Amino acid sequence: MLMKSIRLKRGRERSVKRRHPWIFSGAIAGVDGDPQPGDTVDVLDHTGAWLARGAYSPYSSIRTRIWSWHADEAVDEGFFQRHIDAAVEARSVLRENPEVNAYREIHAESDGLPGLIVDRYADLLVVQFLTAGVEAWRDTIVSILASSGNCAGIYERSDSEVREKEGLPQRAQAVFGDEPHEGTIILENNLQFQVDVRQGQKTGFYLDQRENRSIVRSLVRGKEVLDCFCYTGGFTLSALAGEAQRVVSIDSSANALVLAQQNVRLNGYAADDCEWVQGDVFAELRTLRDRGASFDVVILDPPRFAPTASSRQRAARAYKDINLLAFKLLRERGTLITFSCSGGVTTALFEKIVAGAACDADVSAKIVAWLSQPLDHPVSLTFPEGRYLKGLVCRLA
Ligand code: SAH
Repeated sequence: MLMKSIRLKRGRERSVKRRHPWIFSGAIAGVDGDPQPGDTVDVLDHTGAWLARGAYSPYSSIRTRIWSWHADEAVDEGFFQRHIDAAVEARSVLRENPEVNAYREIHAESDGLPGLIVDRYADLLVVQFLTAGVEAWRDTIVSILASSGNCAGIYERSDSEVREKEGLPQRAQAVFGDEPHEGTIILENNLQFQVDVRQGQKTGFYLDQRENRSIVRSLVRGKEVLDCFCYTGGFTLSALAGEAQRVVSIDSSANALVLAQQNVRLNGYAADDCEWVQGDVFAELRTLRDRGASFDVVILDPPRFAPTASSRQRAARAYKDINLLAFKLLRERGTLITFSCSGGVTTALFEKIVAGAACDADVSAKIVAWLSQPLDHPVSLTFPEGRYLKGLVCRLA
């Protein structure tokens, strides 16, 4: 039988040899054996020498994602079992932490499983199959997760836009065990949050900010805090728990704000311990500036302005705009805690944008901390794209 394989153009084997997991369509000289979406293909160099084994995705410009660089490693149930076990093992510190019961169990490429996201919300797992490769192994993966004994239910949120690039339909449904009940409640840094795993953004909660929320909590005692892009109140609650004197929280999503207020109450605070603003942060920051408002701490955690490198320019302007306005709202010796989760914006570029914003706002500031993503969102050394979240804590002079 003819093996299914892709043959690379001369020179294009270099990134595969450096163990980068993506092969773009432009690197491919030929395809043999008529592979279907998600089929396992051998990756060969231009001489026909074996390089790796990956999942074929004919509709995506990332035409193949590599599963293995070992010629003797088959892609079968055992392969997925080993990688899932390794990912779960790597989170043991979190599993044993009594103050946390929600974290990312599997972080796609950086856990050796391109396209697979598994987030734990107490005893419920929420999974996303984002590529043709993991879609083809969906039943195997669900059955491994279900038989682990570590969950009461698995809910699938394969309703991300990125599936369209893979030619895959949108899907959201329970795939094992208990249907998620209305308000799945999780514990993060000893704070409780209700998570809407069916409709919420991503898989329901921004798990990647756990450590940064605890840093915010340590910086706000007695301060007046502005939480921009508050979603369901992750930073807002951290500020309340850190004994902030006043918290103002802004988000454009009415649903997110309802849940944020519920989360505040769930932890024993009154919803009116915060001031809530439903609106566009770009406009609301201007309104606050025009009113002469000021804060000791401003948090900016916007959505992904630049999903890809090509949208970088427009994103840079948006980041500059909100950071400039935030600097203008800060009191003397105030602190800006600013994030970018855009893959297309590097830490160096983000620093440059924030520096430009401070300059245009006519303030002097220094970086006192660089923030990133926690250990359940690892970054493979050969896949720098896995590092998407970066943050700066800047203090005014
Ligand atoms: N800080 C949050 C996560 C923020 S996610 C946390 O810790 O959980 C980004 C949020 O920005 C989403 O809730 C989204 O509704 C909101 N958003 C997107 N564009 C916005 C805009 N222009 N103005 C206000 N909120 C916006």
